[in-house]
Formats: sequence, C-alpha cells, structure tokens
Amino acid sequence: MCGIVGAVSQRNIVPVLVDGLYSLEYRGYDSAGIAVLNAQQQIERIRRSGKVQMLDQGVVDSGLTGKIGIAHTRWATHGAPSEKNAHPHMVGDRIVLVHNGIIENYVHLRNSLLSEVQLSSETDSEIIAALIWQEVVKHNKTLLQAVQAVVKVLEGAYAIAVLDAQQPGIMVAARCGSPITIG
Ligand code: GLU
Repeated sequence: MCGIVGAVSQRNIVPVLVDGLYSLEYRGYDSAGIAVLNAQQQIERIRRSGKVQMLDQGVVDSGLTGKIGIAHTRWATHGAPSEKNAHPHMVGDRIVLVHNGIIENYVHLRNSLLSEVQLSSETDSEIIAALIWQEVVKHNKTLLQAVQAVVKVLEGAYAIAVLDAQQPGIMVAARCGSPITIG
C-alpha cells in the first residue's frame, strides 16, 4: 500500500513532505518521489527506486524548496517498480499528480489518450494526470473543474493529490475507496 502527502504553506514544505513519507514507510513501498512548485512556479521533481532515505539524499543534494508540493511512496500495481514509474507523474510540464489505488478502466482510457498525449510511464496513474491536463489545456478548466470532470470517468479505487503549475497555490485532492486525511 502506498502513501501520499501534500502540503501548502507560507514556508518551505519540503521537510514536511519528506517527514510525511518517513511516517508512511510502515505501509510498504518500492519507490518514492516528491514534486514542488519552485519560486519560478515551475514543477521540480525528484524520484528514486528504493528507500525514502535515498529520495531524502536526492532532496538534500538538489536543495529542493517550495511552498506547495506533493509526495508519494509507491507500491507498484501497473508497471514495474522503477524510477520511470514512480510518482509524482507529470504531464506537459504543467500537471503533477500522486495517486494511491488502482484505475480498473485504465486500458480503455489509455487507448483514448495515445494520439493526444505523450505518456512516459506504464502506470494507470499517469492516465489520470493526462486526462486532467487535457481538461485544463484543451477545455480551459480550472484545476478543480478538471478534477471534477475526470473523476467521473475513473473506475476503481483512488486517492489523488494534484497541482497545476499555472494555478499556483492550489492543490486539489479527491478520493474514492481509498482514504485521505486533510488537516
Ligand atoms: N496503481 C498505481 C501504480 O501502479 C499506484 C499504486 C500505489 O497505490 O502505490 O503506480
């Protein structure tokens, strides 16, 4: 079972995200990742196969900072345990997403997207990010409107947290079947 963490603050939230991942280690995982919007409102992402400690080292080495971000420990269900398949998933340098759960109808959704979006992982989760990207870019929706539209076509269990680099300061989370806590 994976874990997801998100944080928004007036201060740097990277230590909060990394501490959150350490707290979720007991659930079991095969890889970990973190993404923030930096001071230029660009997505910066670090992913590692293996332990949170390796991700933590990457975070320290890179000097990653941001006031809004999401992080994830993955338990692979669709696609091998690898850095390429680790979350967060990014689409179009704009949408970045973490997902806990399984999207049952992902093959159908993936086929409908292949001619429209360049996918870079084997996961069901990236499909959610790509669908949200389509809604914000092609249909000019807010992030909230995009997530509300996309969850209507998802079948399965999920908890997600998502950011849009062009709508900074906003994080949208949604759940169905998988738990999520907001505080
Ligand atoms: N199904 C997703 C994947 O394989 C999420 C797995 C999880 O909950 O960690 O990447």
